[in-house]
Amino acid sequence: MSFKRIIGHEQIIAMLQKGVEGNSLPNAYIFSGPEGVGKMLTALALAMTIQCLDPARDGCGSCPSCLKIASGNHPDLMIIDKGEEKIKIEDIRECRAWLSYKPYGEKRIVIVNQAETITTQAGNAFLKTLEEPPENTLIIMVTTNLHSLLPTIISRCRIVRFNRLSYSDVENIAIKEYNLGEKEAAAIASLSNGSINPNAFAVGGGKLAMERELSLNLLKESLSGNLEYILTATAPLVSDRGKLSVCLDFISNIIRDIALIVSGESDKIVSNRDIIDSLSEMSDRVSLKWAVAAFDMVKEAKQALNRNANSRLLLEELLIGIRYAAKRG
Ligand SMILES: [Zn+2]
Repeated sequence: MSFKRIIGHEQIIAMLQKGVEGNSLPNAYIFSGPEGVGKMLTALALAMTIQCLDPARDGCGSCPSCLKIASGNHPDLMIIDKGEEKIKIEDIRECRAWLSYKPYGEKRIVIVNQAETITTQAGNAFLKTLEEPPENTLIIMVTTNLHSLLPTIISRCRIVRFNRLSYSDVENIAIKEYNLGEKEAAAIASLSNGSINPNAFAVGGGKLAMERELSLNLLKESLSGNLEYILTATAPLVSDRGKLSVCLDFISNIIRDIALIVSGESDKIVSNRDIIDSLSEMSDRVSLKWAVAAFDMVKEAKQALNRNANSRLLLEELLIGIRYAAKRG
């Protein structure tokens, strides 16, 4: 994974690239930001760029060094990732011992994933390394929760803040990295909240686009009072709570978009941009008051679903409620 393949975070990438080219990287970074936006990927891309043997040093992805990083076997790279477990003092001792050897190539690089799981004792031990890092060392701590790190650690590192991805970034990732079709990518991006959940991406397979279309039609036909359509279309949802849950997410997401359109907000922040014509059509028929009421009703339906309420009843109540709220204006 070289910088070239990372989608989004353009400013961060440019800044890191400049640091590599000008040999001006600090000894330690903290990559902080929400889950699933590419912090770890960027850390690996930085390691690859630093160690790349290609004269252009751009993380070519094909030299022996890049290949070793990609497979997690580079002698100058240590990744501390304990998953569910905490990072303990033994892990830090091992890391400190490893760092005391000279690098084979440019630098010894340590990437600490989920750095927020470091225990206080281990954190204090690590602080010594951060205070007096051996020459040619780069430490990258990756975290979703910056403020759970010791303040003394934070003060020794350069902090890089990762924001959520834009909808079009998520769409691009879905298409390029997960090989999803355009419609499916748009549907998944609209529910993504700007981050990548690999599990959701893997399930995709054309179903999400269909579920979004069903959700859109349910909302549209509820507004028109087309009971016949609603009865037929909701049948598969009543028997499949997982699908119903996804559709409720889509409905709430579509209502949010309609509220944005009604309020005259820019199209850019609408999450279902590829179906904006249908949304605009619906927004002509409702008010902001309706959107607020409908949004709450979907939230209640979702809570009822989580409490194991009868899915047919909660869905009927929701769709009828949405219709009456529109009639009230
Ligand atoms: Zn390379």
